[in-house]
Amino acid sequence: MKIRLLVPAVGISVISLFISLFLLGHFEIYAQRERVVGPYVKQTASVTKVVSTRSSTFARAAAENARLRGSLTWAFGGKTQTGWAIYVPLISHTIGTDAAPESDEFALALSNWQGDSGILPSGILDAETLAAFTKHWQSRRLGRSGLISSDSLRSAPIGEFFDPTRAPDLLRLDRETYAAYQKMVAAAVRDLGQELKVTKTGELAPDEKFFRIVSAYRSPEYQAALRRREPNAGRAALAKHSPHSTGHALDIYVGGEPVRTLDSNRLIQVQTPAYKWLVKNAHRFGFYPYFYEPWHWEYVPGK
Ligand SMILES: [Zn+2]
Repeated sequence: MKIRLLVPAVGISVISLFISLFLLGHFEIYAQRERVVGPYVKQTASVTKVVSTRSSTFARAAAENARLRGSLTWAFGGKTQTGWAIYVPLISHTIGTDAAPESDEFALALSNWQGDSGILPSGILDAETLAAFTKHWQSRRLGRSGLISSDSLRSAPIGEFFDPTRAPDLLRLDRETYAAYQKMVAAAVRDLGQELKVTKTGELAPDEKFFRIVSAYRSPEYQAALRRREPNAGRAALAKHSPHSTGHALDIYVGGEPVRTLDSNRLIQVQTPAYKWLVKNAHRFGFYPYFYEPWHWEYVPGK
C-alpha cells in the first residue's frame, strides 16, 4: 500500500521540480527586466546568478530557434508551411534587432517583444509567437476597403513598370499611392545607390528592374479573369477580393520571379537589398507589407 502511494508521490515531486525550474527561468527574465526598468531595485549578490541563468535560458532558446527556423510546421492560406526563414527580415525589424536568428541576442529581443505582446517571453519563435507576428502584420494592411472611384486613379508611365509591354489599362493606380511610391523609390535610390543601376540625375536607370511596379490597380473584372486562368492558385495566391482593386496596393519587383509564392523563390527575394530596404523603410512612406508575398505592399498612411 505504502509503495503504491509512494510511486505517484515521487512522480508528482519530480514533475513539480521541473515546473519550478521552468518557471524560475522565466521569472528571472522578468526579474532582470524589472532591474532595467525600475529605478529602486537594489543590486544584490543574486545578480550574477540571474544573469548567468538568463544567458543560458537564451542559449537554449537560440538553439531552439536555429532548429525551428527551418522546421516549424504551421498553416496559412489553406496550406501547411514549413519554418519561418522567409520572414526573418520582417521579424527582425518587428523585434528591433539585426542579430542572426540563431543568436542569444535575437532570442532576448524576441522575449521582450513576446512580453509586450502578452506571450510567455521564452525567446523561442514557436507557432504561437509566429501567429502573433502574422496577426500584427496583417493588422496594418488595407482591410476590407471598398472599390476606388475612377476619379482617384491615374496612369503611371510605362517606364515605371517591370513589364515594358504591359497593357495601357493595367498602368493605373491611386494618385496618392503613386506619389508616395515615387518618393519611396527616390529615397531607396539615394540609400542603395551602389546596389542599383542609377542615372546621372539620380533616378533608377531604364534597365533597372528592382523597385519597378509589377502590378498596381486591378479592376474586379481583371481579378476574376486572373482567377479563371489559375483556378488552382489557392486562397493565399489569388484572393477573390483583391487589395489591388483599391488602387492602393502595389506589387514591386524585389528579385527572383516577380510574383511566385514558391518558398525557394521567396527565399531569394527576401535576401535582396531592395526587399531588406523596404522592410526597414517603406513605413516611412506609408507602405506596409503583406508578409506572405515579399513583392506586395499596401499604401495605408497613418497605420
Ligand atoms: Zn499584390
